[in-house]
Amino acid sequence: MLVVHKYGGTSVADLTRIENVANRVAKARDAGDDIIVVVSAMSGETNKLMDYATHFSANPAKKEMDMLLSSGERVTAALLSIALQSKGLDAVAMTGRQAGIVTDNAHTYARIESIDPRAMQTEIAKGKIVVVAGFQGINKDGSVTTLGRGGSDLSAVALAGALHADKCEIYSDVDGIYTTDPRIEPKAKKLDTISYDEMLELSSLGAKVLQNRSVELAKKLNVKLYAKSSFSDNEGTLITQESNRMEEVLVSGIVLDKNQARVTLRGVADRPGIAAEIFTMLAEAHINVDMIIQNMSEKGSTNLGFTVPQSEHENAKKLMATFDHDIAGMDFDEHVCKVSVVGVGMKSHAGVAATAFTVLAQNDINIQMISTSEIKVSMVIDEKYGELAIRTLHSAYELDK
Ligand code: ADP
Ligand code: ASP
Ligand code: MG
Repeated sequence: MLVVHKYGGTSVADLTRIENVANRVAKARDAGDDIIVVVSAMSGETNKLMDYATHFSANPAKKEMDMLLSSGERVTAALLSIALQSKGLDAVAMTGRQAGIVTDNAHTYARIESIDPRAMQTEIAKGKIVVVAGFQGINKDGSVTTLGRGGSDLSAVALAGALHADKCEIYSDVDGIYTTDPRIEPKAKKLDTISYDEMLELSSLGAKVLQNRSVELAKKLNVKLYAKSSFSDNEGTLITQESNRMEEVLVSGIVLDKNQARVTLRGVADRPGIAAEIFTMLAEAHINVDMIIQNMSEKGSTNLGFTVPQSEHENAKKLMATFDHDIAGMDFDEHVCKVSVVGVGMKSHAGVAATAFTVLAQNDINIQMISTSEIKVSMVIDEKYGELAIRTLHSAYELDK
């Protein structure tokens, strides 16, 4: 069996943990599997490298950032390979480029365009364990690129697809996908299986246990994906095509996204094209706008609110300043978060949103923004109530039962 293992930052956080990973890989190897291991940088390393860069520049060149950030994963790939070799196993470490991963030119959030798996296949055929530095590839100009935060998950899924691996196992510090983040709500329940679509919704709404693009690709390539813990031998969660369970379940998960900032524009000139100008400018700056609310216009002007990632908050502020002739007042709040209730069962049931609003009201939590789709309800609230809201909603939908 050919299996892709991916070990995240907490699993390779220090030398003892890298040793632990080496032991786990050795065990799987003894069981007869061919193994590709994808590793993240040691936890905190990518942030540390980003801080180094911002010491010199508030806006460092993205190409240089990729050169810098990709180094974190190279360190762990090399160390794990050395640890495996010291146990008498035949291992080889590869960068993204050596593993054949070619991306587009979008530095710091590149998309994988193709993978040439031949170099990896040659090593596997020689009986080697291939250890690949996650989160990176190379563009057509030969420059190193990175795949966006959490991108090692994507590397793992893409390699599993290119190599037609039997399965792809993502190892972190939790032993599967839970009804909500078990660090916030210890009563959260582990799911045996979850559909790609539902997982994609959880990830996209901010459950960082799997990167959303990796789930999207796993669905597209039909990769058999497992979320497991590198600290236990517990059964993980299988992420797969629509599972029957989902039909019965009204709400399957609650998500907290702390990485949100709210922008409110008051007295926006109500003329055709103004929204297009504002959001085009944000899009061109690659600022991901999430929730958008516009009020009915009154006396020729309207109020417009939206959320952006916290890291883009200062950039958004600068861009909005260029509209001051069209906007009477602006208000920015970094201390907000988004809580979401997710479930495919909502499609055919009324009242899910009403329950969410009611339980938040009972806890005196004010809802600042709302957005809904067929399978989710999201609410922006004050950051300080985020965890309370998660626990309250989790119990209101009886997910702890
Ligand atoms: P890694 O560093 O290995 O990539 P992450 O920190 O990205 O791991 O993801 C694991 C974390 O995801 C867990 O520690 C947990 O706090 C968080 N998490 C958020 N939502 C969930 C969920 N629904 N189920 C399990 N873990 C979750
Ligand atoms: N090291 C990168 C990050 O912190 C990629 C990853 O861990 O998946 O975002
Ligand atoms: Mg992760």
